[in-house]
Amino acid sequence: MEERGSPDGDPARNLEQGPEGPETPIQVVLRVRPMSAAELRRGEQSVLHCSGTRTLQVSPPGGGPEVAFRFGAVLDGASTQDDVFRACGVRRLGELALRGFSCTVFTFGQTGSGKTYTLTGPPPQGEGVPVPPSLAGIVQRTFTWLLDRVQHMDVPVTLQASYLEIYNEQIRDLLSLGAPRPLPVRWNKTRGFYVEQLRVVEFGSLGTLMELLQMGLSRRRSSAHTLNQASSRSHALLTLYISHQTQMPPVDPGEPPAGGKLCFVDLAGSEKVAATGSRGELMLEANSINRSLLALGHCISLLLGPQRKQSHIPFRDSKLTKLLADSLGGHGVTLMVACVSPSAQCLPETLSTLRYASRAQRVTTRPQAPRSPKAKPPQHLETELLQLQEENRHLRSQLGQMDPKASGLSGARVAWAQRNLYGMLQEFMLENERLRKEKRQLQSTRDLAHGEQRILAQQVRELERRLLSACYLQQPGPGPAPPCPCVMVPPLLCHAPPPLCPRCQLCPLCCAPLAHWACPRRELHLPQMCSSKAPADGPPSARPPPWAPPCCPSSAKCSKERSHSEWAQTQVLAEMLTEEKVMPSAPPLPVGSLNTSPVLRGGAAVPNLARRLEALRDQIGTSLRRGRSQPPPP
Ligand code: ADP
Ligand code: MG
Repeated sequence: MEERGSPDGDPARNLEQGPEGPETPIQVVLRVRPMSAAELRRGEQSVLHCSGTRTLQVSPPGGGPEVAFRFGAVLDGASTQDDVFRACGVRRLGELALRGFSCTVFTFGQTGSGKTYTLTGPPPQGEGVPVPPSLAGIVQRTFTWLLDRVQHMDVPVTLQASYLEIYNEQIRDLLSLGAPRPLPVRWNKTRGFYVEQLRVVEFGSLGTLMELLQMGLSRRRSSAHTLNQASSRSHALLTLYISHQTQMPPVDPGEPPAGGKLCFVDLAGSEKVAATGSRGELMLEANSINRSLLALGHCISLLLGPQRKQSHIPFRDSKLTKLLADSLGGHGVTLMVACVSPSAQCLPETLSTLRYASRAQRVTTRPQAPRSPKAKPPQHLETELLQLQEENRHLRSQLGQMDPKASGLSGARVAWAQRNLYGMLQEFMLENERLRKEKRQLQSTRDLAHGEQRILAQQVRELERRLLSACYLQQPGPGPAPPCPCVMVPPLLCHAPPPLCPRCQLCPLCCAPLAHWACPRRELHLPQMCSSKAPADGPPSARPPPWAPPCCPSSAKCSKERSHSEWAQTQVLAEMLTEEKVMPSAPPLPVGSLNTSPVLRGGAAVPNLARRLEALRDQIGTSLRRGRSQPPPP
């Protein structure tokens, strides 16, 4: 008895004819793993025999009827990894992916039958330890072939990769930068089913790609059970995206580029929980694996049915079928590598796999390459394009009607903004930035003015303090004045700043004008300094200070003539205020309005500052005028 794979005979020939035909069947290749050491120790005999390169014969123990299965290629336990790579037709898929087709290679079979070994070689021997080249699987060999092929192409190609696993019905990114977290599967009209937020990494060299593979392999879930010491507990999907730089970039930044892709799917194996001895978490994982494989089998059965076109295919039943929907029933090109064990103990599962694989190679897809840019766009796109062009014309005409003067923009800038809406947006952003800058400048000017105001207030306080002390010096003291002690002033102090000592005016040592505060006993001069004309009635604090606002001319106090010592005292005040030497013949100090005086800038906020400074000016002006009309005593 022989179970034929394809209704029209040779699936391999179909693939060779190219994918552009209306329907292309899934290509199926069978690999039989060699007897394991344990099986040999038990003295087991293989129940599977190859007949030629494409037929497998199953001989049940106990002399049951033999069954034959035909596939695209059959590789027995003696075949090497390189034999598998050359015979399975993966290079053909690579070529199609370079031409823009979406291609998938997936392994299928019972747990421990050699699926992971066929795709990526024996399990990793340690963190970052690569598989020895002779044991490298289909994936590594395809990487090498593809990178070499890309280097010899005329058109520059961009290569990217993503790697995910479906573990307990959750999708985890094996290339994520942090710890893998569950990602959602979404669907849209253009992309079909896709994984949102999946990390897609660009690579340019074989080394980088191998590192990505190694990273994914080491993060993938695997556990030991009776049938396999490194059993994969998840389905893993490694995808290479191939795009030519002439192709349009994706509209959505998270979307992989338009172009071909080559996806390697390592399915977790179906397992009988009783046979593997799975308990607890292992059992949960096994149930989840079996459920998703069942959904896959169901979809394949429906795809084979005579009512296929009318019937609904439940791809949404599991994450696995969602992500394989395009490979199985859509526009992809698919290769299945069915793996079986030669052990008699695994015969039921082996037969099940063989039947499953036989059915799968009758499933057809309608591969579609991306349209060339010169191809005519579909009708609805053409209509949409016309609508957008019309809208664009309308917006342009509206912009043209805008009055440049009314909008406050210069003619050249308006013309620039009219080019498109993006230009206008930029215009607003620039304007906004300019206003922000202006605001910052105003703020810094205000801060400077505040600082200046504080300094002025301090200066005024200091001047007031000095004036107050000068006023007290004018009080008459009891008893006769002692002889002028200026002779005791050391020569250095002769050059202390003015004012002059009102008693002798000149230093007896150097004949320079002598500062009265340079004299160590200057308090003793006070009676002379203040003279007899100083008001003696009332306490000193009750008397108005010299800088007090001028009283009315009819006042009794104001009518008193001030002495020359008063003039000298006023001169001191004037010099302190103006920081200049004031000569008796100098014109009076300017008495301008408060607003025009530079000294008052920023001083409006100091209590009474303006009034106090004005009073000082008046006082000084009056004294200066009086000093000019009254010559100093000889
Ligand atoms: P699966 O992925 O189907 O569960 P594995 O690929 O993990 O199975 O293989 C199970 C065991 O069998 C591993 O130890 C692996 O090294 C070994 N094995 C599988 N196929 C081969 C082969 N063709 N040659 C040598 N060893 C193999
Ligand atoms: Mg595996």
